Amino acid sequence: MTAVLELRHTGFRYRRADSAALEDVSLTIEEGSGVGLVGESGAGKSTILSLLLGLSSPTSGAVWFDGAPLNRRDRAGMRAFRRNVQMVFQDPYSSLDPRQRVDRIVGEPLSSLRLATGSAARERVAEALTAVGLPADAALRYPHEFSGGQRQRIAIARAIVSRPRVLLADEPVSALDVATRIQIIELLRELSVAGTTVVMVSHDLGVVASLCERTVVLRSGRVIEQGPTRTVLGAPAHEYTRRLLASVPRLPR
Ligand code: ADP
Repeated sequence: MTAVLELRHTGFRYRRADSAALEDVSLTIEEGSGVGLVGESGAGKSTILSLLLGLSSPTSGAVWFDGAPLNRRDRAGMRAFRRNVQMVFQDPYSSLDPRQRVDRIVGEPLSSLRLATGSAARERVAEALTAVGLPADAALRYPHEFSGGQRQRIAIARAIVSRPRVLLADEPVSALDVATRIQIIELLRELSVAGTTVVMVSHDLGVVASLCERTVVLRSGRVIEQGPTRTVLGAPAHEYTRRLLASVPRLPR
């Protein structure tokens, strides 16, 4: 297995914050092996996603992509990175621009990353919409015409239109009703079976257990334990993980 993304001894402190949000975090995202990030609120999960997405730079340590440290001054390298690491946010109501038609929304990464224009771009958008289970005519409509679950499909279509190797997802189903959740989890599973590496933050350990081969448990900006999900969540080594398992909601099987 090859490492597609890594944090190496990474620390992060927000500006004007008294303490570090992350301290000496090391984790490896292997190509094709989904990773779940779990831990109580404030543990540092979202901060890790923002580092893995290249939105923030570590205060110490480094983010590695494809075997090399991420270098913001390397423009070609950053374009390859952006094409390959995409993000799905929690709330499909605020993450889609209501004034833009779906074809513009989904096609945006193709134009901003200069991957395709014109009919080639339209084909890629249609392909992405089909992959997430939306009808082709969805392209000509606006976000308000869709339900929450369909909007999350649009957000996922935008995230996969550049054919990324890694999809980062921050609580991708927690804003959705229970029936829709199961459908979106199924869609993420299909994408992961098709080869996309899904890195997910979820407070729902059932979702993590069903989608992620590996789990990283965080607390106060540090890794408490990490390893295969069946070990970490099935036979946790730490009291903190056991408490987390006892306290969080789970998806009905
Ligand atoms: P999680 O996603 O696990 O809830 P976060 O990554 O959001 O945790 O937060 C990690 C730590 O960083 C917390 O102590 C939080 O209060 C702090 N933090 C998060 N965002 C900011 C910010 N914009 N400015 C200052 N501190 C922040």
